[in-house]
Amino acid sequence: MKKLAVIVPCYNEELVIAESYRRTKAVMEKLSILTEIIYINDGSRDKTRDILNEIASKDPHVKVIHFSRNFGHQPAVTAGINNCDADLAVIMDADMQDPPELIPDILELQEREQANVVYCVRKSRSGESVFKRLTAKMFYRFLNNMSEVQFPVDTGDFRMVDRKIMDQFDRFQERGKYIRGLISWLGYKQVPFYYEREARIAGETKYPISKMLKFASTAMLYFSKKPLRIVVGLGFIAVVLGLLLALYFAVGKIYGFSNAETGWTSIMTTVIFFGGVQLLTVGVLGQYIGVLFDEIKARPEYVIDEKRNF
Ligand code: UDP
Ligand code: MG
Repeated sequence: MKKLAVIVPCYNEELVIAESYRRTKAVMEKLSILTEIIYINDGSRDKTRDILNEIASKDPHVKVIHFSRNFGHQPAVTAGINNCDADLAVIMDADMQDPPELIPDILELQEREQANVVYCVRKSRSGESVFKRLTAKMFYRFLNNMSEVQFPVDTGDFRMVDRKIMDQFDRFQERGKYIRGLISWLGYKQVPFYYEREARIAGETKYPISKMLKFASTAMLYFSKKPLRIVVGLGFIAVVLGLLLALYFAVGKIYGFSNAETGWTSIMTTVIFFGGVQLLTVGVLGQYIGVLFDEIKARPEYVIDEKRNF
């Protein structure tokens, strides 16, 4: 019989876990296939660990992985997929923004279309700030312009993947994982499922701006070399501009229409402009070198402290 796993990363989610488990379990019990839930506790500092252990001690179909510290959302989902032996998996947030009640419909679509991936596209996002919605919208479109691969827009990690996808995913060696991008990159048959994103049932977002920026830069650096090409273009423009200015001042001196010695403004502008272009170029280079540094160290992406019910 087919088995479906629900993979749920949790970081300081003591306020939502119990309700989240109750709702997910209710949905799973109605399905006519084997089911399990895999919770990944991403180094929570609140009662998440105890609550999850309590649930796992009562329900043998709940597996729990505790990280040794907070490694981040993407490593947590990665650990979930790496440790999943089911035929199908749904990746879902703990805060119920991705409603588990949709799982039967997603499963139905997967079976009907014989899809390897069903990715869930947000038609709307309630309970999220205008800032978050706007930056997310811009980011997905910007990334598509920059990237060598095309990604579906307004799509998070909420999706169903089959065994083939999980087996291929396990082969990815890179530490900086932009999971939704990697899954798109894999190909196979991927179909969209449209839904309304709900508000978080309780607690605060675990994605402050700093984590959002890190996430966005991983996506950019791992999926696009365009920033490097853009700074080359900038450098080129700067050189041409510099040459034209030099020519203008030289000719101006000879024919007397330029007062170069009173040209404090032009000197400052040039110095600042070239300085800026150079810093930007070095900065972009530095970002890529940083990624190379991380990858070459080949540290594990996450450290597991304990596993339950495996
Ligand atoms: N999360 C995690 N590790 C982190 C941050 C978040 O495992 O370092 C989990 C979190 O518990 C939730 C999911 O990732 O289940 C998405 O986080 P959140 O709902 O806070 O993000 P948002 O929906 O606000 O973007
Ligand atoms: Mg959320």
